Amino acid sequence: RTKLEGRSGYHFFEPDMDGQTLAKRGLERDLRGALKRGELEIHYQPQYDIKTGRAIGAEALLRWNHPVHGYVSPADFIPIAETTGLMIAIGSWAMHKACRDFAAAAPGLRLAVNLSPAQFRRADIVTLVRDALDRSGLPGNCLEIEITESLLMEKDAGTLDALKALKALGVGIALDDFGTGYSSLSYLHSFPFDTIKIDRSFVREADTNPDCAAILQAIAALAAALHLTTIAEGIETEAQFAHVKALGYDCGQGFLLARPAPIDELSFRDFATRSAS
Ligand code: C2E
Ligand code: MG
Ligand code: MG
Ligand code: MG
Repeated sequence: RTKLEGRSGYHFFEPDMDGQTLAKRGLERDLRGALKRGELEIHYQPQYDIKTGRAIGAEALLRWNHPVHGYVSPADFIPIAETTGLMIAIGSWAMHKACRDFAAAAPGLRLAVNLSPAQFRRADIVTLVRDALDRSGLPGNCLEIEITESLLMEKDAGTLDALKALKALGVGIALDDFGTGYSSLSYLHSFPFDTIKIDRSFVREADTNPDCAAILQAIAALAAALHLTTIAEGIETEAQFAHVKALGYDCGQGFLLARPAPIDELSFRDFATRSAS
């Protein structure tokens, strides 16, 4: 395509038609067919009990293997899927696939699946989860869903009902990226959470920034008082690991412990019990 293709001739010079917008439109077009063409995959990142070093399960993370661009980050394509309505089909595929993979490859371990607000707004999330559990044979208590505060901010009464119905199936509920959104503390007792996942931005500076260390410590204390399990996200170094361990975090996830991998390359070996125990 050239700029002359537009009827007006100056089409591509309009302020909203910058390179980024064009790239986004291209991705949006490509994403429409990605599922059908088999370009979407799920990788799994193990999660560990920090004290024992034992694997407790893994988080399912969407991957888009684009024929031209290679792997496109979910941080780039999930927002597009959300605004175009594609998240319903993609999210449903991911839930079924992850439950099936896990029931076969990781019996007894817990699968964590991210859900997007669009799936609560425009789909019957409870029916989706129930069907995925039924068809895969994965027990409800081997599934935890991860949601973010953006969903709770919508203040839709249906959200609380849906979360309660999921809990009735035995499914756990985790609050993801905690500390990055509005972090209204009222969410913690208004919604039936089992787990909070501390965002990796705090973990990254755990041992170098006293403010981050203080926040990590306060969140650990709050979670303990509310009987919530804590997961520290994004542990990349031994020093970060030692720090969240010392603060009493229950579980950990991060490149130091294991990187996301396809189901057939997934290993749930314990990581060696590490320093500063
Ligand atoms: P998230 O749910 O917070 O997932 C954790 C992200 O942190 C993943 O990025 C993971 O690869 C990355 N990560 C894990 N350990 C480390 C580490 O040690 N260092 C660093 N720098 N990063 C680490 P990823 O896979 O790119 O996913 C980004 C986000 O996309 C996820 O954040 C989640 O919000 C969203 N996402 C991924 N899969 C799905 C899905 O199936 N459905 C929905 N709705 N969202 C998804
Ligand atoms: Mg997550
Ligand atoms: Mg997270
Ligand atoms: Mg995130």
